[in-house]
Amino acid sequence: MASPVRVRFAPSPTGYLHVGGARTALYNYLFAKKHGGHFILRIEDTDQERSTEESLHMQIGDLQWLGLNWDEGVDPQTLKSKGDYGPYRQSERLDIYKKYCDQLLDEGRAYFDFRTDEELEAIKKAGDKFVRIPRPDSIPTAEDGRKRIAAGERAAVRFKVDGGKDHVIEDLVRGEVRLPEDMVGDFVILRSSGMPVYNFCCAIDDALMKITHVFRAEEHLSNTLRQKMIYEALGFETPRFGHLSLILGKDKQKLSKRHGATSCHQYKELGYLPEALNNFIALLGWSSPKGDEYLTPEALLEQFSIDRLNPSGAVFDDEKFKWLNATHLRALPHQELWKRLKPWLDRENIVLPEDEAWVDRALEIFKTKMETLADGVELFRPIDMKFFKIEEDAKEVLDWEDSNKVFTAWREQVQGMTTDYMTGDEFAEAQNKVKDAAGVKGKHLFMPIRVAIIGKAHGADLKMLVPLITKESLLERLDKVEAR
Ligand code: GLU
Repeated sequence: MASPVRVRFAPSPTGYLHVGGARTALYNYLFAKKHGGHFILRIEDTDQERSTEESLHMQIGDLQWLGLNWDEGVDPQTLKSKGDYGPYRQSERLDIYKKYCDQLLDEGRAYFDFRTDEELEAIKKAGDKFVRIPRPDSIPTAEDGRKRIAAGERAAVRFKVDGGKDHVIEDLVRGEVRLPEDMVGDFVILRSSGMPVYNFCCAIDDALMKITHVFRAEEHLSNTLRQKMIYEALGFETPRFGHLSLILGKDKQKLSKRHGATSCHQYKELGYLPEALNNFIALLGWSSPKGDEYLTPEALLEQFSIDRLNPSGAVFDDEKFKWLNATHLRALPHQELWKRLKPWLDRENIVLPEDEAWVDRALEIFKTKMETLADGVELFRPIDMKFFKIEEDAKEVLDWEDSNKVFTAWREQVQGMTTDYMTGDEFAEAQNKVKDAAGVKGKHLFMPIRVAIIGKAHGADLKMLVPLITKESLLERLDKVEAR
């Protein structure tokens, strides 16, 4: 029987979770779920200068926000390892890498390189951009190397690449990929600081953690060659690989900060929903067999399969993302939408009626105007009386000859209300009555009414807004306008 599916997402905690990283995590997660397998979160933190705990917490927070929960890996709160194949932080596995490094040294598959950084720099400078570091004329035996290190010298450990051979992988996304050994020279597996490098740790961990499939970004293809050589040298079984398409900006260049927001955190802060982000990134390099664009989390899981992963670059289209977000947002049950919107309103100290009927009505009216949660803030703000303020552009309206007549007639309409709220139709009717009573029409009618409700001469659709403001608050606004 085939071994159970085990996949991993292996971020380096050196910044925010990028949308590309989130996509890798999502595909791995979906693949594991589809096959009843395990999704593992491994932390690749051997680059000690760039890795930070803060970034790790952020990335973990973003993965949780996206709902991409892992079966094994680090615990989201304590960051301690959880699972049978730990530890899951590379910085806690150094003795394991050392053991395998020693094995390669003893078997003559790797060697100590005592050349200094300056010497290596000089070699690089003398050659062209793609120069490979040549093997030194004489290589110390492992035993001699260890003695020199014990005596205080410093050396990196390099893996021997003999060259001449082509490695062929049956990539799950791109089909047959030929990786000639000659693409790389002897590469470092252990730095002179004693820290192992990514390619070495990654290969060992994938093997020891029994990873069956590796889905990751296309730019790792040349690493795959190095890792494959390590697998073979150590007698490990090679997992299946799938190299995902590049994510491009609209100008067809690789997506970068230049193109705008690229981290999950930024999109969260812009008011995007996690289900919309998952939907959107899923479509960057994969397509639904039914041709669907809008996919709920359930539909995504149901329809996902790796045979529809596409190797060509996928363009990140902000407009499409916004449309998907609006579609997901509008599909949320009101109770859920309110729960998500509430923190945005609380942050701005926007206080609103909380009864269910009101919330229901308000969301029914406003959700059609919202593409992101952030959009809710300015839509809801005018309802809270404390934000009512007569704006500069409204002052001129107050001075118009007929404005007072309009206010008096409007007051009569509001005072005559027998319910707490007017409906949109009742508001239209009230406006007509004001028109007759005050004998004004056009902007001399509408603008003073607008100012008496929102303090501004322009903006906000009053037919939408008025039904959400209490009679009491409408009168209070009018008082302020008349008392200016
Ligand atoms: N730590 C690597 C990265 O963040 C992981 C690459 C891999 O999946 O092997 O790009």
